[in-house]
Amino acid sequence: MAKAVTLARVRNLGVVAHIDAGKTTVSERFLFYSGRIHKIGEVHEGDTQMDWMPEERERGITITAAATTLQWHDHELHLIDTPGHVDFTIEVERSLRVLDGAVVVFSAVDGVEPQSETVWHQADKFGVPRVAFINKMDRVGADHEAVLAQMRQRLGARPAFLQLPVGAEDTFSGAVDLVTLTELTYSGEEDEAPTETPTAELDGDLRARAEKARTALVENVADVDDAIAEAYLAGTDIDAPTLRAALRRATLQGKLVPVLCGTALRNKGVQPLLDAVVEYLPSPLDRPTVRGVNPQSGEAEERPADEKAPLAALAFKVAMVDGRKTVFLRLYSGTLNVGDEVFNPRLKKLEKVSRLFAVHADRRERVERVSAGYIIAAMGLKDFGTGDTVCTPKAPILLERIDAYEPVISSSIEINSSADKDKLEDALKKLQDEDPTFRVRVEEETGQTLISGMGELHLEIIHDRLEREYGVATRLGRPQVVHRETVLREGAGEGHIERVNPEDDKELIFGGAQVRIRPLPRGAGVDVKQAVPPPSSDLPGPVRAKHPIAVAAALAGLKEAVSTGPEGYPLVDLEATLTQVELKEGVRSDVGWRIAAQSALRNAIKAAGAALLEPIMDVEVVVPEEFLGDVLGDLASRRAQIEDVGVRGPQRAVKAKLPLKALFGYATAVRSASQGRATFTMTFARYDAWS
Ligand code: GDP
Ligand code: MG
Repeated sequence: MAKAVTLARVRNLGVVAHIDAGKTTVSERFLFYSGRIHKIGEVHEGDTQMDWMPEERERGITITAAATTLQWHDHELHLIDTPGHVDFTIEVERSLRVLDGAVVVFSAVDGVEPQSETVWHQADKFGVPRVAFINKMDRVGADHEAVLAQMRQRLGARPAFLQLPVGAEDTFSGAVDLVTLTELTYSGEEDEAPTETPTAELDGDLRARAEKARTALVENVADVDDAIAEAYLAGTDIDAPTLRAALRRATLQGKLVPVLCGTALRNKGVQPLLDAVVEYLPSPLDRPTVRGVNPQSGEAEERPADEKAPLAALAFKVAMVDGRKTVFLRLYSGTLNVGDEVFNPRLKKLEKVSRLFAVHADRRERVERVSAGYIIAAMGLKDFGTGDTVCTPKAPILLERIDAYEPVISSSIEINSSADKDKLEDALKKLQDEDPTFRVRVEEETGQTLISGMGELHLEIIHDRLEREYGVATRLGRPQVVHRETVLREGAGEGHIERVNPEDDKELIFGGAQVRIRPLPRGAGVDVKQAVPPPSSDLPGPVRAKHPIAVAAALAGLKEAVSTGPEGYPLVDLEATLTQVELKEGVRSDVGWRIAAQSALRNAIKAAGAALLEPIMDVEVVVPEEFLGDVLGDLASRRAQIEDVGVRGPQRAVKAKLPLKALFGYATAVRSASQGRATFTMTFARYDAWS
């Protein structure tokens, strides 16, 4: 890492957008202009620094959020490149959680697309301040006004456009910076800084338009900032530093979003975007202090962004780098040194940090020490997983975990050569450590290995990585939907067991339990409780004394049993109540009550009637009018429920809900129904029954 800067000059940011809007292209320019790389790699040539996994280069999409550090005007920027594909939403959510600010890239042609809407709302959820960049201003049909309008309508944002574009499409040459009233003109050569012309020297028409646009910008800011409102009403001249300070205040409070424009591919407009990052996005000191709980007392605790405070960090990503487990950390407070023993409150375990790395895609630089506000990669933390808190044993704290998504698709996986069995097991374990949305299960009856994840692409990439990174060739079965089970009505059941333990021929295994269940609304999950009356006073004292043990054992059995329904899928959306336990004299172990509660639950489910739930997805298809009929027809044949057919710029936008099962191969179908002109996104909606 270069010379340390004060925390006020640090920016932890992400670049987020809909797939293909230009995140990777923008990020590459960031690296180039900051002097971090000396040659710009292009996405379509499979040559970028940020997309460093081979699958990403081949597929031209960004899967792993790679972190990198760069310098810009005495500031240190920690940049996380986030993926745009829906199968990898968890990556976006994880990075937003640990970032302080974001650059949202829109395409000037395609505007606010579904995935950018999703990301926008995720950023709202975490209160992440944003700066927007309208990219692809060089393309035919580029329309920045339309993008600004969509930001207002679809995102409910207040964009503050800081520029007046000069030229359009292939004649786009730059923009007038409305804060300083300076025209910036780009040659398009990657290593040339823009030519700057003060507005006073501009020709009459451009100068008049720029002055008008600046007034509009000032009015826009005055609406959310009292200081600017007063100055404006008083007719005072508002200079650049005053306007900048007001824009910063409003951005940090989430009241507006500064917007810039350009074309990353043609090297126009990226340097002012970096300026805006430094100028308007928060430093770790500007963010609210991180909150958590004391793992022992459960009481709320806070940690300030201060290197002298006790250590608190979040493990937001785990990856195998060169075959070694690497944990990516965001330090919220305190200092971490190589050799420190850190505490994992989830596992109640100490582990030693063996190495620390500043991260730059797949190249790394070793450092000895890191302090609050930074993002870092650590080695040696063998048992830490994604979402774990890293803290000091002297002042333990548990930060809120990152929500993991439940996998919705599974597939069998088989090795081509039986010699690879151990290698496969080992590789799958490592992949699971990295990715909380990836699961592996061996089916008891058949011995078959099942892998599950967030979508078809997710599993295909796992399959590719197994071969490429771990040298294990496998065959994937057809993807299957992962179901859930629930109950239709209320029901009750009993379970009873009484037999001599066949292992020693002496011990009596005994237990009896009653369970009542009832359905809960969709999305409610599972609630296990007990309502067992006190033991009857007729029973002898020693038998009555067994009561709490029996209740605890039966409850534990019930909790275990709800993880699998009659078809082997997890049960959801039901309440299971333990209502009675049966006692008997001379019973020594508690296994019997455990077994009895499990069979009571099975009987209650039989009485209530079970039902399969399948993953239902929200789908949005954006398609030219001429293909709308074909796309709707195809959706109807897939049992889709059409929710809305709207207009999106020159195109039509169809919103529908349908089962994931009906979406296998949809990418190909929608392409052929629209001659390749439709785009679609899907996001998980809920588990439900679908007729
Ligand atoms: P990401 O999916 O958001 O990371 O987008 P990429 O950076 O991979 O860009 C998607 C495609 O758009 C690539 O083929 C880029 O070369 C292209 N692209 C990116 N920026 C621009 C731009 O400013 N103008 C034009 N014409 N194409 C661009
Ligand atoms: Mg990309």
